[in-house]
Amino acid sequence: MEKPDQFRELFRMQKALNERSRTRNTSEPSRDFHPMPPAKRTIRKRATRSPRRPLLWLVPARWRNELSRVLIPQPRIAARVRQLARQIESDFAGRDLVIVSLLNGTVLFLADLIRHFSLPLRLDFIGVSSYAARTTSDELVFTKELRLDVRGRDVLLVDDILDTGRTLKRVLEKLRRLRPRRVKVCVLLEKRARRVEKVRADYVGFAIPDLFVVGYGLDFAERYRNLPFVGVLRPQRGGGRNRDVR
Ligand code: 5GP
Ligand code: MG
Repeated sequence: MEKPDQFRELFRMQKALNERSRTRNTSEPSRDFHPMPPAKRTIRKRATRSPRRPLLWLVPARWRNELSRVLIPQPRIAARVRQLARQIESDFAGRDLVIVSLLNGTVLFLADLIRHFSLPLRLDFIGVSSYAARTTSDELVFTKELRLDVRGRDVLLVDDILDTGRTLKRVLEKLRRLRPRRVKVCVLLEKRARRVEKVRADYVGFAIPDLFVVGYGLDFAERYRNLPFVGVLRPQRGGGRNRDVR
């Protein structure tokens, strides 16, 4: 091909391209057009940048009718439990630790926490329950008593959630009568807004708002304990605020 022919061909191709983009602009939205306002677009952009994040907060299909949302996803729990374990281990270094765990809500938390420990420890449980679904924490019933001797020993008391503080107050009073060297309290969750008794935890996994939560050991009518995350129970399923259940 001679030079003028090459130019002619190039011009022809350029013209065809221009024509194509012109017709496309009129029939379909151009790249500059966006159906969403800029603010929403930014949110969407961020979501696509880290696609794992929204998935963690997605209630699994199986639980969607019962739970309104995931409050603490599994990886966050795992990371926080690891941190807590490290902190507890350094605080109790060189000590002979007795872990006293409250049944039944602590099962998952306790199992995950203690597998991080390399210090020598012994484990025992106290069973606490309210007599009926509508009784308050004042009417606590001890369903299992402590068997290990804690006199003169370092005790870590583990509970699932510190709410009004009535349960831990009663349990701490009982435990202190057994004359341990010291007692530290570790809870997975705490609802600060609901505190009635002057009780504080030395180690807190997460401070949460005043919502009724289930999962990762916590139940409603003995269900949901096996969920690997902490979720919020839908109000029509018995969730909501200011519940006095155990
Ligand atoms: P407190 O005596 O501190 O008011 O209550 C502590 C106990 O109440 C916990 O050990 C737990 O059994 C129950 N509880 C308090 N808040 C919740 C909650 O949001 N979800 C569940 N499943 N149990 C809760
Ligand atoms: Mg409990």
